[in-house]
Amino acid sequence: MMLNQKMYELGSKRSVIREIFEYAKKRGEEIGRENVFDFSIGNPSVPAPEQVNQTIKQLVDETPSVALHGYTSAQGDKGVREQIAGNLRRRFGAQVSGDDLYMTCGAAASLTITFHALKEDGDEFITFAPYFTEYKVFVEGAGAKLVALSSDKNLQPDFSALEQAITPRTKGLLINSPNNPSGVVYGENTVKKLAEVLTRKSQEYGKPIFLISDEPYRELVYDKQTVVPFITNYYPNSIVCYSYSKSLSAPGERIGYILVNPQAENAKAVYAAVCGAGRSLGYVCAPALFQRVAAACDGLTADLSVYKRNRDLLYEGLTACGFECVYPDGAFYLFMKSAEGDAYAFCERAKKYELLLVPADDFGCKGYVRIAYCVQTQTIERALPLFAKLAKEYGLTNKS
Ligand code: PLP
Repeated sequence: MMLNQKMYELGSKRSVIREIFEYAKKRGEEIGRENVFDFSIGNPSVPAPEQVNQTIKQLVDETPSVALHGYTSAQGDKGVREQIAGNLRRRFGAQVSGDDLYMTCGAAASLTITFHALKEDGDEFITFAPYFTEYKVFVEGAGAKLVALSSDKNLQPDFSALEQAITPRTKGLLINSPNNPSGVVYGENTVKKLAEVLTRKSQEYGKPIFLISDEPYRELVYDKQTVVPFITNYYPNSIVCYSYSKSLSAPGERIGYILVNPQAENAKAVYAAVCGAGRSLGYVCAPALFQRVAAACDGLTADLSVYKRNRDLLYEGLTACGFECVYPDGAFYLFMKSAEGDAYAFCERAKKYELLLVPADDFGCKGYVRIAYCVQTQTIERALPLFAKLAKEYGLTNKS
């Protein structure tokens, strides 16, 4: 068969997460769903805000069908973009307009379009591990190279590694806060320091180094003191890749946006390249109905108190068992040290208790596992005694 070998491989090999997710479904049929503790996938477990369904009903009832379901402008409906930009000005004091926004089919599309828009021959994009597994697929798909750096011991950026890794080939730094898979959030000082390094290196090499901020978890933080800085307020050459998948609990609807900071060097040209990349990838005109739903529900979230309760229960329960966990300020993932060096072997042992965890090797971080806690709270309550048994197998000491 004459095929693109790389695409064939990507399409025929499932990701580790999908592999475990499929296993969970099969195992659930064998022993009952309630007896399988599937912590594999980041599928929101809290219903969408009521306003999402209400808006859909209202739009369907009140808008002529042809207008509602027809194409919008390639970059998204103008009214939708203006409404979202207005919210960004109000919520974050960001000096942006609808003309800086490009509506997309979720963060995956926001990222692929951005990499295609920026990439020139020989370009590299830097990110910090642990990172979302698809970054490598998206960056390489655009013909660039992903350079993954280790984070510091708190999973915050390692600034000296960053200084050394930036070269004339560096087109951008990709960050994701709140982070999948660690739940870590970058605070204001961190963002200021990142901006300082990128500004200095941009000057040194005489070209802008972009800061690309992947933000599907922007609103998912659980403590009053946790503030997620709005990137365009801190660094001019920045691009935000946003998605409503998690905030509105609507990942299947495929809606998000790219925000090109209007203060970026040649911002209009960058925006044009985003439009060009969207066109070349066949992404023109994100789903029309959901563009309007996104505009009407922008800034709302599903009931985050459920995730907060899950986070607290899980973090306290696991640390009490003796497991070493990174405190997750946001998103709905908990990053836990594997109780043995080989995280795959640890996950296999956990499987004996029907606890399905994801080894973090594919997130670029060996010796850890990811636990997605976007599940029913009851699932966590029932899983904790099993985690305690697992901890005992490794001789971990109960700290409760
Ligand atoms: N980026 C991160 C960090 C994610 O966790 C995800 C999805 O889980 C995506 C991007 C893709 O999001 P979307 O469903 O909006 O394409």
